[in-house]
Amino acid sequence: MTVKRPQPGELEAIETASRDEISALQLQRLKWSLRHAYDNVPFHKKAFDDRGVHPDDLKTLADLAKFPFMTKTALRDEYPFGLFAVPKEKIARLHASSGTTGKSIVVGYTLKDIDIWADLVARSIRAAGGRAGDMVHVAYGYGMFTGGLGAHYGAERLGCTVVPMSGGQTEKQVQQIIDFQPEIIMVTPSYSLVIAEEFERLGLTPEQISLKVGIFGAEPWGEGMRREIESKLGLDAIDIYGLTEVIGPGVASECIESKDGPVIWEDHFYPEIIDPETGAVLPDGADGELVFTSLTKEAFPVIRYRTRDLTRLLAPTSRAFRRMSKITGRSDDMLIIRGVNVFPTQIEEQILRDKRLSGNYQILLSRDSHLDNVEVRCELQREFSGKLSTAEVATLAKELQHHIKTIVGISTLVTVLNFESIPRTQVGKARRLIDDRPQLI
Ligand code: ADP
Repeated sequence: MTVKRPQPGELEAIETASRDEISALQLQRLKWSLRHAYDNVPFHKKAFDDRGVHPDDLKTLADLAKFPFMTKTALRDEYPFGLFAVPKEKIARLHASSGTTGKSIVVGYTLKDIDIWADLVARSIRAAGGRAGDMVHVAYGYGMFTGGLGAHYGAERLGCTVVPMSGGQTEKQVQQIIDFQPEIIMVTPSYSLVIAEEFERLGLTPEQISLKVGIFGAEPWGEGMRREIESKLGLDAIDIYGLTEVIGPGVASECIESKDGPVIWEDHFYPEIIDPETGAVLPDGADGELVFTSLTKEAFPVIRYRTRDLTRLLAPTSRAFRRMSKITGRSDDMLIIRGVNVFPTQIEEQILRDKRLSGNYQILLSRDSHLDNVEVRCELQREFSGKLSTAEVATLAKELQHHIKTIVGISTLVTVLNFESIPRTQVGKARRLIDDRPQLI
C-alpha cells in the first residue's frame, strides 16, 4: 500500500517535541505519580519506607533508580483491589490479565485513565497508518482481556468505524471482512494466520482482501512472522505492545513509515531497562528487562514495574520518543536447554526461513533421565502439504535442524507435519510451548 505518512498538523505536539521538553514533562509527571502512589496505596508507602526513600527524593529522572521495584507478586498478594489508589466508587472499569503465566491479576481504571488509554491507542492506530473514517475490524478477544476493549476505544477515538468482532468464529470473521471491506485489522499475530488460512480456503488472493494494515500484539512475533503475515494477507503488519498491569495495548506501537520497533509513549509511561539479575539500570541500547513507571495513571499507578519482557531501548526515529526493540520473549518463556538460553521466537525465525513451512509451530519439551529433549513440530504450507516426497520432507527437517543447531545453538528433533496438523488458537494467545518435563518441587 502507499504508506500514510503523517501530514503536518496530524501529530500531537509532544510526538515531535525535543528531548528536553519530553524529560521536563516526564519529571513533572513522575513526581506526581510517586506522590500519588505513596499517599494512596499502603503497599507503595511501605515499599518506599522500607527502602528509605520518599517521593520528595526524586529531583531528576535518574533518581528513580533509588525507588523500589514492583513485581507481579505484588499484584497477586494485593488481589483484588489492594493496589488501587482511588476509592472504589471512582473505578469505572476492571480488567484482568489473560493469565498466560500463573494466577490472574486484576487492574482498575478511572474514567480519566480510560480516556488517556483511548487517546494512546488512537495515537497507535494513527502511527500504523490508520485515519478517521477507516474501518477497523477488532478480532482481539473482548471481555476481561484488555485487547478487545482497548483496541475498540482507541479506534473509536480516532474516528474510525469499529467492527467489534472479538476472537473465534473464523468463518464468520472472514465473511464479515469480505462483506464490510475494513482497511484495518487488530488481532494477535497467531490468530491472523488462522484468518489468512480461511481466506486461502475460500480461494481469495491477498490482493482481493480489503485489509491494508494489521496491528498485531499481545504475544511475541519475529520479523519472519511479519513477512509471512504480510504476504498472506497483503497488508502492512505493525507491532503494538502493552500489558494489563501498565494499561493494556498501546503502551508502545510501531510507525508504518519505519517499522523499526514499537515507539514507547513516553509521555505516559517512563521506561527503564535493568539487568534482571542485579536490578541495575542499563544504558540505552543494552539488552535487559523492561521496567515501567506510569506517569498519569490514577486508579492503578505502577512504580518501576518489572514486566519480565526482554528488550532494549532504541533512539527515536519516526517520533520524538524512544523505541523498544521488538520483544523476543518474556523471561518466563525463556528455555534453558542444556545450558543454552532460547526463546521460541528464535526457533520461529528459523522455521520461517523455509517458504514451504508455515508460521504454525509447537515446541515440545521432555526429559529423558536428566537431559532435556526438544521436539520442534512444524507444518507445511497448504500448497506443499501432501505434495513432497518422504525424502524431500526428511531433507527439509534435516536442514531446519541444522539451522537451529548452528544459529540458535540447540539440538532438536524436527518433525514436519502436513497442513492443519497443529491446533490453531481461536481466541487469545498461541500456545507454542508444551513442557512435559517433570516439575521440580
Ligand atoms: P498475560 O501476562 O496474562 O499474558 P497480558 O495480556 O497483559 O497478560 O499480556 C502482556 C504480555 O504480553 C506482555 O508483558 C508481553 O509479554 C506480551 N506482549 C504484549 N504485546 C506484545 C508484543 N507486541 N510483542 C511481544 N510480546 C507482547
